[in-house]
Order: sequence, then C-alpha cells, then structure tokens
Amino acid sequence: MSSYRVAPLERLIEQFEKLPGIGRKTAQRLAFFMLNMPEGQAEQFAEAIVDARQKIHQCSVCQNLTDGDTCNICSATDRDKTTICVVEDPRDVVAFERTREYNGLYHVLHGVISPMDGIGPDQLRIKELLARVGGGEVQEVIMATNPTVEGEATAMYVSRLLKPLEVKVTRLAYGIPVGGDLEYADEVTLSRALEGRNLL
Ligand SMILES: [Zn+2]
Repeated sequence: MSSYRVAPLERLIEQFEKLPGIGRKTAQRLAFFMLNMPEGQAEQFAEAIVDARQKIHQCSVCQNLTDGDTCNICSATDRDKTTICVVEDPRDVVAFERTREYNGLYHVLHGVISPMDGIGPDQLRIKELLARVGGGEVQEVIMATNPTVEGEATAMYVSRLLKPLEVKVTRLAYGIPVGGDLEYADEVTLSRALEGRNLL
C-alpha cells in the first residue's frame, strides 16, 4: 500500500467526489487540474461557488432562482401576468425562455410529488402557487411538469386544488416522449407542446 497522501489534496478530491456523476478517478483528475491552474483562476473558481451560494435564493413570488428579492421575469413590466406556467425545476424555466414563445410568468414547484422518494405536497411550493392564483389576476395556469408518472400525478393534484379558484387549468400537449424531460426538449417541440395545450 502506498502511503503517498497529501491532506489538502485528499480533501479536494473528496469534495469533487461529492458531485453527481463524479467517481474517484475523475475527482482525482479534476483535483490535479485545479492544482495546475494559475492561482488567480483557482481563486476565481472558489469565489464563484461561494458567491453563488450566498447571493442566489428563491424569488419571493415564483420561487425561481434569483439574486434579487423578485426575479427579473416577475419584475418585468412587459410579461403577461394573467398566465402562470408551473414547472418542476428552475432549469425548465430556462428551457421555456429559450423558445421565446412564452411571455407569461412561471411558478417553480422545486420537485414533484413522489411517495417513493418521500416527497409529499407539503415539500413543494404549492401553497405559494395557490396564494398567487387566489390573488385574482391570474386567468390561466399551464401545468408543465414532466410527462412522467410523478409529473402527471402532480399536475392532476395541483389542478384539483386550483379548481375552486375558478381559473383555467391547462396541460402541455406532449410531443415530448413519455418519461422524457422538458429540460432536454428542443425549442420547436416545447413551443408545439405549449401551443397545443389541453384543458385539464
Ligand atoms: Zn419570480
């Protein structure tokens, strides 16, 4: 057994190993890569992580990620405030924004109901959505959770809660394959899914 161990290097490797999809070998490769970086660049990298963690939080209205109190979509004056598109994840907002077809607002649930993973409705930002819709300005809520079993179940659950609020609830028409992920749908597919949405 080799006893070649440098504690700070070992710690760095351990940190990289915590990242998704990174095994021991890749972690080692990344750690050595960082050691060979110019010192200023490595500092910028470390600062970017700390900075992002300290400054980014959830928008007080739509729960999307922002570094302000409200995100730039919620605070924009030229967005259609009568329509809310409900998504699972902040990455889905990015996907919809890429289409340049949608001009309404969003609401990020931060997950889907998944009993298998111990995630119930209370762990999602559903209360916040009901409060927004209850405010009266919203006319349509588009359920844009992924076309997975959990995504469908969550869309149905939320739409039932929205019914008494007398708002139109629609679901994306999917050209996206069942089990697929919105985040990876191309712009044309996502635009069509939005255009052809059905009443729930
Ligand atoms: Zn927002």
